[in-house]
Amino acid sequence: MSDVSLSGRSRIGGKQVRGAEFRDLAGNDELAARADADGLTVEFATRLLASCILTLRTDGGELPASSDHVRALTAGDRETVLLALRRAAYGDRLDLLVTCPDVTCGAIMDAALTVSDLLHGPIKSPTSRDFDGAGVRPVTGDDLHAVAALALDDPEAAVRRLAARCTGRDDDGATLTADELAAVESALEALDPHAEHELVLGCPECDLAFTSSIDAGELLRQEMTASITELDVSVHLMASTYHWCERDIMALPIIRRRRYLRVLTDAVATSVSH
Ligand SMILES: [Zn+2]
Repeated sequence: MSDVSLSGRSRIGGKQVRGAEFRDLAGNDELAARADADGLTVEFATRLLASCILTLRTDGGELPASSDHVRALTAGDRETVLLALRRAAYGDRLDLLVTCPDVTCGAIMDAALTVSDLLHGPIKSPTSRDFDGAGVRPVTGDDLHAVAALALDDPEAAVRRLAARCTGRDDDGATLTADELAAVESALEALDPHAEHELVLGCPECDLAFTSSIDAGELLRQEMTASITELDVSVHLMASTYHWCERDIMALPIIRRRRYLRVLTDAVATSVSH
């Protein structure tokens, strides 16, 4: 069981959410991620968060995690818990492959960073009171669910609809001017800085400077889906060596399973080389 501090910007029943206690990811979660591989990322993230968060700590006591509570968290707090889950299961180091956005270049580069860099990156001091005056509130999981399907077809319309929802407008934001939209976007960034993690990169081939954003839900889903072969190998080696049953192996925290797997594969390699 682990714990992560949250921004205090999420509110459930009028109470500020200060932190989340969560369980470790296990093989069962990886199997569920594989079954969920084609759905909307936001739906995957909500299901995973509701399953892994044990309690949410508020200034009025503890709340159980539920789908509704997870949807009430700000986008930034959701990203924070997803990254903390990722670090607890697969470690701190992130090795990302990023493609240069210049189509004539298209070079693929490594971007090595850590989850801690993202979690503890610069956070602006709370200024929600200023923005309350302007009537802007942070994006929540509910908002992300509401625009997710639209975002696939028309990302700009989705941004406008989010801006409309977060400023309490009863339209879809189509009539917001470019200046109004930019003001809402910068207010949202200041209110909930962890909602989006952007990497500033330079292409080693063509020198282009560009930014690439990280979606923690999608990152985690890809990793959980990619480790299925490792899961099968783990079950085979642990069941045949330790005589553990499949159910227990599937419930092992991923970080512990990986430690056993290293020991077992080293032992296999040693016996093959002799
Ligand atoms: Zn390039």
